[in-house]
Amino acid sequence: MEAFDAHRLLRETGALLSGHFLLSSGLHSPQYVQCARLLQFPTVAEQVGAALAQALRRIGAAPDVVVAPAIGGILIGHEVARELGTRCVFTEREQGAMALRRGFALAEGESAVVVEDVVTTGGSTRETLAVVAEFGARAAAVGAILDRSGGQADLGIPFAALMALTIPTYHPKDCPLCRAGDPLVKPGSRVFKSK
Ligand SMILES: [Zn+2]
Repeated sequence: MEAFDAHRLLRETGALLSGHFLLSSGLHSPQYVQCARLLQFPTVAEQVGAALAQALRRIGAAPDVVVAPAIGGILIGHEVARELGTRCVFTEREQGAMALRRGFALAEGESAVVVEDVVTTGGSTRETLAVVAEFGARAAAVGAILDRSGGQADLGIPFAALMALTIPTYHPKDCPLCRAGDPLVKPGSRVFKSK
């Protein structure tokens, strides 16, 4: 069997897009990653989840539960939990704040890992860690498919990512793609060519 290669899977499933993208921050970028395109294939999602679970084990995590922020974390969190043999619950926003809804709960002292698709600034991860702490559970580690923080996301606990990717961003006035006349697209607004 071939070695697990997250980067190759991202390319092959069209999750790593090349072009000229308008990000939600207003900046422009030549690449965009849409993990949902990777995870749309259950057999791929299962492999990625198993690899991430192994990466979490390697940093010493042996959790009782996986906690994943919706929507991006749900599929990968579920697959990590499958491999670890734990349950998976997800947080979602309730009047703007991350919360466990739907009757989900954590037991006091339970060991949890937080699983995301992508960590960029670590904002939603920290909010999810705060939910874990509110229940009196212990957060053992954070796992993500992709670390886009450039090593800058200081989460305060061990962090395992299957791949790190530093994607350049440009202010519109300094953007070489704008200068080259490439049409600007907003991710999700049309079908992209993938590379
Ligand atoms: Zn541009």
